[in-house]
Amino acid sequence: MLKIDIHTHILPPKWPDLAEKYGYGRWVSLVQQHDAAGACCGGRMLIDGEPFRDVKLNCFDHAVRLQECDSLGVDVQVLSTVPIMFSYWAKPDHTLELSRHLNDHIGELCREHPSRFVGLGTIPMQAPDLAIRELERCMKELGMAGVQIGSHIEQPRTADWNLSEPAVFEIFEAAHELGAAVFVHPWDMMGEHDMGRYWLPWLVGMPAETARAVCSMIFGGVFDRLPDLRVCFAHGGGSFPYTIGRIEHGWRCRPDLVAVDNERNPWSYLAEEGKPASFYVDALVHSRNTLRYLIALMDERRVAMGSDYPFPLGEAKPGGMIDSMYDLTDTTKRRLLAGTALEFLDLSEERFGPAT
Ligand SMILES: [Zn+2]
Repeated sequence: MLKIDIHTHILPPKWPDLAEKYGYGRWVSLVQQHDAAGACCGGRMLIDGEPFRDVKLNCFDHAVRLQECDSLGVDVQVLSTVPIMFSYWAKPDHTLELSRHLNDHIGELCREHPSRFVGLGTIPMQAPDLAIRELERCMKELGMAGVQIGSHIEQPRTADWNLSEPAVFEIFEAAHELGAAVFVHPWDMMGEHDMGRYWLPWLVGMPAETARAVCSMIFGGVFDRLPDLRVCFAHGGGSFPYTIGRIEHGWRCRPDLVAVDNERNPWSYLAEEGKPASFYVDALVHSRNTLRYLIALMDERRVAMGSDYPFPLGEAKPGGMIDSMYDLTDTTKRRLLAGTALEFLDLSEERFGPAT
């Protein structure tokens, strides 16, 4: 059974030192680590010289990824950068330079291994004109399937942009015209500095960020204006699926606050009467009951396997939970493990060879 993992992250082995080049901070750097024999065994990501995250070799060595995919039974990985690399906070030209470097790396791997890797680019969302230009390059020159974007966009002198922002709509319009898939990933978590203990930014902030992104796109009318735009939200849509009742109630009782740009009931964007939801989610919810609920809410045609490889909050054996669910038919499993991904990415199964 073909397995496509739509949610994986990768870094290049090295990238330009933009802090040194441009003279201001917050840029991420990677210092490779070596074992006693001198072989590279992993790396440490730094921000302003301070440790951010240690990564294993599989984060930036694609040969190791391919070996691990083989042993884990993953046929295809969809590659996207690590969200901390979005760098929307920086000067747009500088974010563009970093984005181009990251995208060139992913594009090259996809050209070398077209049956194993599919690329999603990163673009400077804080500057829609530059973002659209790089989006076009990703699609037309690098042969990518789309882009990965953040759940909101930092703005240095104004409030951050949500995905309902008119300026962001221009990017969605361009993605629609180019046939680009849009994968929305939480990052820069709300409340991060108020809940430092217990890993709460990752456990509470990330799901809230994704709900923020889904609600912004629904209430901003993006799905109505671009019904064919293919958008997928990470981590099963975050906390959105489990708060839809509250969200709809708010829409009913305070339309003066909620339904100001879009009068449609938020439930109508979810599966009903044989029609699937208006957007996609990955299946990374770590709970069989939650996945069952998610399939009922979205329809199996809108849920795609994603593991968050190679990070510890991901699913160690991609698709393992789906495989283990005896109440799902083989047809449903095929859909979750590959069929939905193919549709979201607008790719043909033939690209990846005969199913095993
Ligand atoms: Zn992720």
